[in-house]
Amino acid sequence: MNREAIEARLGELPIVQYEWIGSEELMFSERIRHICETECPMYNTTWACPPAVGSVEACKERCLSYPHALMFTTMVEVHDIADIQACLDTRHDHEKVAHYVEKMLRAAGAETMTLSTEACQVCAKCTWPDAPCRRPDRLYPCIESHGIVATAIAEKYGIDFIGGNVVTWFSLVFFRE
Ligand code: SF4
Repeated sequence: MNREAIEARLGELPIVQYEWIGSEELMFSERIRHICETECPMYNTTWACPPAVGSVEACKERCLSYPHALMFTTMVEVHDIADIQACLDTRHDHEKVAHYVEKMLRAAGAETMTLSTEACQVCAKCTWPDAPCRRPDRLYPCIESHGIVATAIAEKYGIDFIGGNVVTWFSLVFFRE
C-alpha cells in the first residue's frame, strides 16, 4: 500500500491529525470494559457494544490480527461543550470521514476493521440481540468498547484535546496488507 498516496488524500479531508501506528502499541484493560458495564447507557444495546463485541481478550485478539492502524482525529467547535446532545450530534460528520478513510484503505488493497466514536447509531433501532446487524459495513464499535485505553495512545502521539468548546473525535482504522 502506498502510504504517501493515502496521506495526500488524507490532506484533502477535515482531519486534524493522523498517525500510522502498530497495533501492538495499544494498551487493553478490563477496567475500560468495567466502565462500559457500569456507566455507559449504551451497554448491551447494540452490536457495536459489549457484550456483543465479545470479551476484552477476544477484542484484543481481533485488533492484533491487524498489525497496523491509522489513527486520526477531527475537531469541531460547539456553542456549549456542556450541551452533551449538541456535542454528540457532531459525531456524524466524523463518522463520514471514518467511512471514507476505511474505503480508501480498502481500495488500496488492505483488509480493515474500524473502531470509532460512541455506540453505533446507524439505525433508529438496533436489531441487537434478536437479528443480525443490518449494516455490518457501517458498524464501527467505539474504541473503548474493545477495552483500548484511548488516553494512553492519545498521550503517546500528543493528540490535542484542546478543551474549551472544541470536541475532538478520534478513530482507529486497523488494517493488514
Ligand atoms: S448498523 Fe444498525 S443493526 Fe447494526 S449495530 Fe448499527 S444500529 Fe445496530
